[in-house]
Amino acid sequence: MPFTGILGQDNSIAVLSRSLAADKIAHAYLFDGIAGCGKKKTALAFIEAVFCGQSEGCGHCPSCRKLAAGQHPDLHVVEPDGAFIKIDQIRELQRNLSFRPFEAPKKACIIDGVDRLNIAAGNSLLKTLEEPPGNALLILITDNPGGVLPTILSRCQRLHFSALPEATITALLRATGVEMEAARIIASLSAGSMRKAVGIGEETALHERRSFLEKISSLSLGNITPLLAMAEEMAGDKEKTLELLELLTAFQRDALLLQNGSPEIVNSDLLPLIEQEATGFSGENIMERIGHVAESRRAILSNVNARLALEVLFMRLAKKQLNS
Ligand SMILES: [Zn+2]
Repeated sequence: MPFTGILGQDNSIAVLSRSLAADKIAHAYLFDGIAGCGKKKTALAFIEAVFCGQSEGCGHCPSCRKLAAGQHPDLHVVEPDGAFIKIDQIRELQRNLSFRPFEAPKKACIIDGVDRLNIAAGNSLLKTLEEPPGNALLILITDNPGGVLPTILSRCQRLHFSALPEATITALLRATGVEMEAARIIASLSAGSMRKAVGIGEETALHERRSFLEKISSLSLGNITPLLAMAEEMAGDKEKTLELLELLTAFQRDALLLQNGSPEIVNSDLLPLIEQEATGFSGENIMERIGHVAESRRAILSNVNARLALEVLFMRLAKKQLNS
């Protein structure tokens, strides 16, 4: 990814771009900042530019393509193996850096989680920082600079990465298809970390799916108000409704599979709800219910009144409930 694809880290990127333009890049950098703010992406973009020999990676030469695929023979990435980065990992890195580059102008490495070097590994890395083999480029990354040995800190050019602004996280979430209101809420809870935002987004989506299927399972003709309200609410967003109906079909298919003793259930986290469907209806009934959902999907796709189509569907689903 080129620098222009990284949002919210203009200061660090400006420093790196200037050093590239002046052909004065340091041997070792330390990028610090909270998890999920773009440190590793920036490290990769910087290495891409260095390997590509331009101010930004071009994105399509063999070198850029290999980096994008995580398969460049001259880039070595070290991450904690369990709780720590161990001395064997640093020794292997030193061995790799001691060879001449295969195709890039120099060897490069990213050590992600440099606060988690155990003592032996830290001392060993220190030697590499004092006398870098060849003209290797080392980029050390941490979200906990207080845990990095001071002797390591003092041998690196340090760049601080700030937490991402809420507007940036909102824009990044929007680009992945999250709705505006949800994106704003998630961004406000994410404390500047895209990683955290993605986690919250996944939880929200899971919660939404569960709540939809719970509502469907509790539909009753004895109390029609919630049924009509749900149809009205969903009719406002056709695209999302089609997604939810697809989800409902997968859920119904799971109930059929469960009835037949198959272990291949998709929504395994919703087992109690699936059991309720599987025991409340015969296989034939479930097939009919799948047919009802398919029919309303077709109706909504062909632009009939979505609210009416959903009301009919929900009444059909509610009516056949044997245990209500
Ligand atoms: Zn390139």
